[in-house]
Amino acid sequence: MIPGHFAYHAPASVEEVITLLGQYGDEASVLAGGHSLLPMMKLRFAEPAHLIDINRIPVLRGIRETQGVIHIGAMTTESELIASALLNEKCPLIPEAARVIADPQVRNRGTLGGDVANGDPSNDHPAVMMALDALLVLRGPRGERVVSANGFYQGTYLTQREADELLIEIRIPTPPPGTGQAYCKLKRKTGDYATAAAAVVLQLDGTRCRKAGIALTNVAPTPLRADAAERVLEGKVIDEDLIEQAAVQAMAICDPAEDLRGDAEYRTHMAGEMTRRAIRLALQRVQGKSP
Ligand SMILES: Cc1cc2nc3c(=O)[nH]c(=O)nc-3n(C[C@H](O)[C@H](O)[C@H](O)COP(=O)(O)OP(=O)(O)OC[C@H]3O[C@@H](n4cnc5c(N)ncnc54)[C@H](O)[C@@H]3O)c2cc1C
Repeated sequence: MIPGHFAYHAPASVEEVITLLGQYGDEASVLAGGHSLLPMMKLRFAEPAHLIDINRIPVLRGIRETQGVIHIGAMTTESELIASALLNEKCPLIPEAARVIADPQVRNRGTLGGDVANGDPSNDHPAVMMALDALLVLRGPRGERVVSANGFYQGTYLTQREADELLIEIRIPTPPPGTGQAYCKLKRKTGDYATAAAAVVLQLDGTRCRKAGIALTNVAPTPLRADAAERVLEGKVIDEDLIEQAAVQAMAICDPAEDLRGDAEYRTHMAGEMTRRAIRLALQRVQGKSP
């Protein structure tokens, strides 16, 4: 299929992007890696009159840490996340999730910002960002605001981002020492979206779980924060009985659509299984029992 007609803009600065977004508002779409937007345009599910290509703005790329916060530019690609020494050392959950997204071609162009801003519940990074308590920096004609990834997703393709706002960067509090992280994703084949997936972040105080972050991918119209599952683990020494209780709480909030990946019952069950596996793996990693 061929997309509808659009005017193409290639701004060289964030300021120019904001001016264009202010001018065209919801008639415009920002083009990042294009691996979600262009298929939607070819199917005519998206028909922006103005396409604002943000690939020529170096300031939107890169990964750095300042004062206990990891900053990732919205245009940083999946391949760059995977190759990042900083992330692999301090926040390996992000490269782990990036490695199971699509295929190398998609990962070389697809960006963290595009995956986070897209609003598709089958994208993998939103649940990861929720489990990590990430903040999203949005800039528009009215200025800059910082919102939590938790609460950002309001419905399928519906987020807190206004049509004239650009996602600039993602900020992640650097996980403290003693944190275990894991992303477990069930997919039918390499390159597929998740049948169900779970992101788990466990901060341990000795043997006790001080804080848990658990979020789920593609088992509801939005990514889900599994707070009740987190409360099962927090303040306790995690054992198999607690892991089972947390999985039950995670399954209780699932509301997946039936599709070729399975019916609602199966996908809910798999969300529970991914939660169990990710908790066990995060725990083993923080206890030095697993790579
Ligand atoms: C074969 C295939 C398999 C895939 N499998 C997976 C998978 O398993 N898991 C997964 O998570 N994804 C998957 N994807 C999607 C892929 O990861 C996309 O790259 C990603 O969803 C969007 O990132 P992008 O940079 O390509 O954004 P684009 O497609 O350019 O943009 C996506 C949307 O976000 C908006 N947007 C982009 N950047 C910004 C910004 N900085 N500020 C504001 N709005 C912005 C755009 O306007 C658009 O609405 C797959 C894609 C393909 C083609």
